[in-house]
Amino acid sequence: MNLIIMGAPGSGKGTQAALICKAHSLPHISTGDLLRKNIADGTELGKQAKAYMDAGKLVPDTLVIALLRNRIEQADCKNGFLLDGFPRNKAQADELGKITEIDAAINLETDLNKLADRMASRRVCLKCGYTTSVQDAPDGKCKVCGDSLVIRDDDKREVVENRLKVYAENTAPLVEYYKAAGKLKNIDGMQSIEDVNKAIEAAIK
Ligand code: AMP
Repeated sequence: MNLIIMGAPGSGKGTQAALICKAHSLPHISTGDLLRKNIADGTELGKQAKAYMDAGKLVPDTLVIALLRNRIEQADCKNGFLLDGFPRNKAQADELGKITEIDAAINLETDLNKLADRMASRRVCLKCGYTTSVQDAPDGKCKVCGDSLVIRDDDKREVVENRLKVYAENTAPLVEYYKAAGKLKNIDGMQSIEDVNKAIEAAIK
């Protein structure tokens, strides 16, 4: 099962991706997490990507496509995977289509006006990628690995607006792209985490 999860920044993609991957034993491939790991590890790719990410812009296709290709070629992806945050534009979707076949593209539909607040309260663990909200983790500790939770640099208010604009211009058109390919599964992403998950499971059965 080769799946994509799509949605605006803050739509809950990462949270839902983790649930799907756990239920179906699929590797969760988040290009955002891979890039943040590269930044934390101080790699050359991380150094090149950081300025784009901090500004809420897309990292250049050549860098992200190479990163994705390397990850998909690893043995754990042989029987399927879930992509979270890739593709982000038509060029990446075309490239992905050349690398592998996608079975379904799950699209979380959200109210863009409410997403800025969600992102302002998001907290992440840079060590293991766990994502939660400040309300659900008032002690500031990751409940998976115990590391400290932080606010993502690009979740700061001034960057969020740009990320939503980049999404609308580059990524939202992929909804039509996968609809035309007969792969689109639209899900109401403004429901509770449990209800969104149930709707996804019903859609991919
Ligand atoms: P995310 O964690 O998916 O919200 O991604 C965080 C940031 O990483 C984005 O705002 C981009 O700067 C960068 N990024 C992640 N995935 C991609 C991608 N497929 N193409 C370009 N940039 C990406």
